[in-house]
Amino acid sequence: MIAAGIPGERKRRIATLAVWSIVVAFVVLGFKAAAWWITGSVALYSDALESTVNVIAAFAAYWAIQVSHKPADDDHPFGHHKAEYFSAVLEGVLIVVAALLILTEVWRSWQNAAPLEQPWKGLAVNGVATVINAVWAGILIRAGRSDKSPALVADGQHIMTDVVTSVGVFVGLVGAVLTGWRILDPALAVIVALNILWQGWHVIGSSLNGLMDRAVDIQENIRIRDIISANSKGAIEVHDLKTRIAGRATFIEFHLIVDGDMPVRESHLICDRIEDALKAEIPSVRVVIHVEPDDEAKLPRGTTAVPFA
Ligand code: ZN
Ligand code: ZN
Repeated sequence: MIAAGIPGERKRRIATLAVWSIVVAFVVLGFKAAAWWITGSVALYSDALESTVNVIAAFAAYWAIQVSHKPADDDHPFGHHKAEYFSAVLEGVLIVVAALLILTEVWRSWQNAAPLEQPWKGLAVNGVATVINAVWAGILIRAGRSDKSPALVADGQHIMTDVVTSVGVFVGLVGAVLTGWRILDPALAVIVALNILWQGWHVIGSSLNGLMDRAVDIQENIRIRDIISANSKGAIEVHDLKTRIAGRATFIEFHLIVDGDMPVRESHLICDRIEDALKAEIPSVRVVIHVEPDDEAKLPRGTTAVPFA
């Protein structure tokens, strides 16, 4: 997270985006609710409900950014990164509730299907909301990439998924009005509900991984090993590498085998070199290195530089 610019400045930039996300979510919700009100379409109702999820998600994200950026303190010496998972779990639950509400509404409209009122007016209002959402998703993805913030990129991609759904609903409803197939309206609502359920599953799954201290993925693991190998000249071996991810922070620990007669000062220099290299490559990394003498080595003493056991 400290990759670009001063951390404080970066945090302010991300917090500003989070505030604007709340504003945009409210505006989009207003338009979508109006579009539903005008037409009575159950598909547009589901589109609007999906927007209420975005409003709550935007608030939760703002809260998580504030808490998770607090520096470590006596009560939380490892930092506050996991705050992000609380907001994610809340978001996941709300998403599932929204999907269930939509399915209930589909059932109701199935029972007494009425033709859409003022469909073109409603679709125009809904179209404006979708354009606003698409522009905002683009801004979030671009800002997230330049700030190396996976959370922002994920938010942007989430909204982009909604845009795709909305476009699908829009096209489907235009088809429904032109052909007179009323079944298209509830059918589209069911598709939106399934999309929302899928998003909820994804959000809950990734936050559970975080709460379970999941390791970094295999590519990242290889990258970390490469960085350690390239910067541990003077050491004999590295073993017991463990990683875990908490929010935007990556925790890395491992054992570093050195010659048992090496002065502490010298082995500490090797540790600092590795730590600096990891910090330069990985945002918000915490490294703990346990130095051991050569009789703790797991591999027979080899000729290659710093093998992993
Ligand atoms: Zn060991
Ligand atoms: Zn030190």
